[in-house]
Amino acid sequence: MAARSTNQCTDGYRLEAQENLSPGLYVHVPFCASRCTYCDFHVASLRIPVVRDYVTALVDEISSHFANGFQPRTIFIGGGTPSALDLASWDKLLATLSKYFKTDLIEWTIEMNPESIDANKIEIALSHGVDRISTGAQTFDEKGLSLMGRRHDARRVFEVHQLMAELGVPRTSLDLIVGWPGQDHESVIADLEAVAAIDPDHVSLYHLSYEQGTWLDAMRSRGVIDPLLDETCIELSRQFLEGLSRQGYQRYEVSNLYKRGGESLHNLNY
Ligand code: SF4
Repeated sequence: MAARSTNQCTDGYRLEAQENLSPGLYVHVPFCASRCTYCDFHVASLRIPVVRDYVTALVDEISSHFANGFQPRTIFIGGGTPSALDLASWDKLLATLSKYFKTDLIEWTIEMNPESIDANKIEIALSHGVDRISTGAQTFDEKGLSLMGRRHDARRVFEVHQLMAELGVPRTSLDLIVGWPGQDHESVIADLEAVAAIDPDHVSLYHLSYEQGTWLDAMRSRGVIDPLLDETCIELSRQFLEGLSRQGYQRYEVSNLYKRGGESLHNLNY
């Protein structure tokens, strides 16, 4: 869903996770409408027959885990782009997870991309028990969004968060990326202002990395784009972290910050 991170808990958090939270269930939805320029994840193209076969296989696997006595305390549905599922597949997957696992859950997160979130999908997710939505914003700078091959604009991120507020999504998280070529202090200030306006209870801040085989890495090799200097990336990262801290966010993992008790319980399992 986003750029690389190294999520390492403090020992205290890891202990808490082992004692209180495990097991967590991660459900992967590998489909994306297109590939972001920095992404080297395994993603599959969004073809409805393949999507439906995949969801059917997932449902079978979920059923067999339930039959074997598995009961997660947390669920995280990530990708890929889970919100790219068609409505029928979306409902089928969430209904299955809800039927088997909802009773014991203390947190259920789903990742969504701004361009494929709509009121129907949010309402279905809430009706099945999803209580946390993580949105891949990455930046609010249109140049950055375009360079990273994102399919949404900044305005859409505000719209979907307004929609989530209206529909009563209990907890929200935003993914942001630091270190993309051309990012500067003004851009970070704009991203911080956007975070302040949206006010999610969780922010994931990932560092862009140039992974082999990605479009961005190829452009770097050909000299078409100029990567930021490491020193600049560190400065921008510091600017982000200081700005988020001033907004009340506490860092609890390398890439993750929260406020209002919004740390991801699922993350604490790792
Ligand atoms: S949305 Fe973009 S970054 Fe996320 S998995 Fe798909 S292609 Fe990769």
